[in-house]
Amino acid sequence: MSDSLTNEEFSRYGRQMIVQGISNNRDPIEHQLLLKNSKICVIGAGGLAAPCLSYLAGAGVGEIGIIDDDVVETSNLHRQIIHSTSKKGELKCDSAKKFINDLNPHVQVNTHPVRLTNDNAFEIFAPYDVILDCTDTPMTRYLASDVAVLLGKTLVSASGVNTEGQLTILNFENIGPCYRCFHPKPPPPNTVSSCSMNGVIGACIGLVGIMQAVETLKVLQKVYTKDNFEPFMLQYSGYMDQSLRRFRMRKRRHDCVSCGDSPEITREKIESYEINYMSFCGSRDYDVVDSMERITPAEFKEKYWSAPAKECVVIDVRPQAHYKISNFNTDTVKNIPLATLTSMKGDIGKLKEVVPEINEDSNVVVFCRYGNDSRLATRELKDKFGIQNTKDVIGGFFAYIDQVDPSIPKY
Ligand code: ZN
Repeated sequence: MSDSLTNEEFSRYGRQMIVQGISNNRDPIEHQLLLKNSKICVIGAGGLAAPCLSYLAGAGVGEIGIIDDDVVETSNLHRQIIHSTSKKGELKCDSAKKFINDLNPHVQVNTHPVRLTNDNAFEIFAPYDVILDCTDTPMTRYLASDVAVLLGKTLVSASGVNTEGQLTILNFENIGPCYRCFHPKPPPPNTVSSCSMNGVIGACIGLVGIMQAVETLKVLQKVYTKDNFEPFMLQYSGYMDQSLRRFRMRKRRHDCVSCGDSPEITREKIESYEINYMSFCGSRDYDVVDSMERITPAEFKEKYWSAPAKECVVIDVRPQAHYKISNFNTDTVKNIPLATLTSMKGDIGKLKEVVPEINEDSNVVVFCRYGNDSRLATRELKDKFGIQNTKDVIGGFFAYIDQVDPSIPKY
């Protein structure tokens, strides 16, 4: 516990300390010391965390834990601006630590280069006052919320994808509501979108991360109190007109299995994996083709692509925007997004409108980005359209780039 500020800290934090009307009439030094003595833990060091961590570190939060086991990649840098091109390949939590300590050497940064799991969540969260969820998977949201409730920690939770984002405070001072109060059931796996599949505008997710920092300051500096806190959800939309909507949310649900009157979720059940977040949230089952129905990128090049005599229809089922960014650059490949193919409901006449030369006897090869959607498409083409000679390319277009032709751009 620190009860004083150095002269360097006075000049570093002076401009925020003189702001009037935000400290619940607390002495400005005491108000700053609340930050200096606080410990927060941030899950994820990506697009939300980048600006959020920067402002919280700049503001003088005393101790920050960062949980992330990913390394910095080029595709992160348009939004994850605490990392940099020279940090490529470095652990994100190490890269973030360097950035933070360069900005403010007073902050103690603890790195946790692991994935948050049932095994480690309690131990990692325990020393911190407030947890920040900066991830984009429902699985982590439920786990973080359940553990925060059981440890009595406030959770500031944000998410963002595409041009939109959401922000809320969960289990505030242990009075709730929690994530399960809002979402007793997880969303269907095929409706969950991610930044890597659906894309994200860096500035949009960054703005949500900054708002997350503002809310965290209010929690840490006790601007919110048990008396004045009202559960809310902020919803940001970046395009076309920017808008921020604030929804009042219901208080804790008495029948909530996590924070309700008779909770069913316990630490033992989580740590023993009796509560399995993976199966609770589910995942889309891509395991629908067998090995005989698949070929490697090298086999594709050898047997189908390079052999001009071999008649073959190549279908790329990626969404159109993905396809336009990078493709084989030839009209012989047809881009039919999976959703479009599925909407044809096995009607080969409709398929012929896009690919006139196709029939039930055609040799068809299917690509997608990573080789998941192409498996669903292969099943569809064989079972519904009756095209038996359909093959799925293992690992998709990106595996082809890695293994056969690295000159094609990856995005
Ligand atoms: Zn709850």
